[in-house]
Amino acid sequence: MPLYEFACENCGAHKELFQQRMATEVEPPACPAASGDTEHRMRKVMSGFAHHLSFATKVAEAEANFGAEVDAAMGPEPDIGKFARKYEQASKELPPTES
Ligand SMILES: [Zn+2]
Repeated sequence: MPLYEFACENCGAHKELFQQRMATEVEPPACPAASGDTEHRMRKVMSGFAHHLSFATKVAEAEANFGAEVDAAMGPEPDIGKFARKYEQASKELPPTES
């Protein structure tokens, strides 16, 4: 689930674009700050998985912004969070380990 980031060459506004599949060329979105006849040019910037952001953080961010699209893109893949909660619950129901 590639996430593309664009920056406006004119005003510096940023916009992220979520794509369901890898595309070689991604059409830049309109600048969110452009108004009227002013021409704003959006340019793709290196985005993806910044060092200070974990994969989970990035996914959570993407979900917040593009929840429905992420769900659709995840398709048949299992919901990791759902499994994690299920296992956490299951572990609580286990009898305490003897020491
Ligand atoms: Zn702009």
